[in-house]
Amino acid sequence: MKVILLGAPGAGKGTIAKLLTEFDGSVPISTGDMLRAAVKAGTELGKKAKTYMEAGNLVPDSLIMEMMEARLQEPDCQKGFILDGFPRTIPQAQELKKLLQKLSIALDLVINLEVPREVILDRLTTRRTCSNPSCQEIYNIKSNPPNPDGTCKKCGSLTIQRDDETEEAILNRLETYNQKTAPLISFYQNEGLLETFVSLDSKKTAQSILEVLKKLHRKCY
Ligand code: ADP
Repeated sequence: MKVILLGAPGAGKGTIAKLLTEFDGSVPISTGDMLRAAVKAGTELGKKAKTYMEAGNLVPDSLIMEMMEARLQEPDCQKGFILDGFPRTIPQAQELKKLLQKLSIALDLVINLEVPREVILDRLTTRRTCSNPSCQEIYNIKSNPPNPDGTCKKCGSLTIQRDDETEEAILNRLETYNQKTAPLISFYQNEGLLETFVSLDSKKTAQSILEVLKKLHRKCY
């Protein structure tokens, strides 16, 4: 599958991306995870992105496009990809359209995840993330806690609350989403690619998404 996941921070994009990838081996690509790994590794990109990210602001479009142009041409993307957190602005969506045309890639679907604001706020303040850049497993202290000593069940590294998960940064991220990213819903509606899913349960939502994809691709699945 070649899909984009749209949804506010905390809408469950990362969890749903993982469930979808288990289905057909398409690679989940999270620009947030890629940027956090770059910050941790101290690369040029990481140094430039760090201050924007910590405040919950968007990283400039030019940096993101450079990173994604390279990523989408890596061989593993030929099996399909699930974009989580990209595009995030209208200019990024316009640039992505040109890039996909250049690479002769057609998107199957843009998935818009709708989740009530109270649910999102609760999820973000209770979220914990594995600090190991090559793991980044996501936990929730209420519904899916890490080990009792706060370590990751998968790799044993410490789980942490991200710098951008303070209440102030969360409110800023939600505001940025409404201003900069929500307009992508109409953009992709006009492209005839959008499907909205009201999502409270990630597993059920992933199933509904697969049903829609199956209808689109009767021959493939
Ligand atoms: P969220 O849970 O807010 O969706 P992500 O892990 O997707 O978080 O992103 C974390 C941060 O990385 C964002 O707040 C932003 O600073 C930066 N970022 C990620 N993707 C993009 C993008 N496509 N454009 C600009 N900034 C991005």
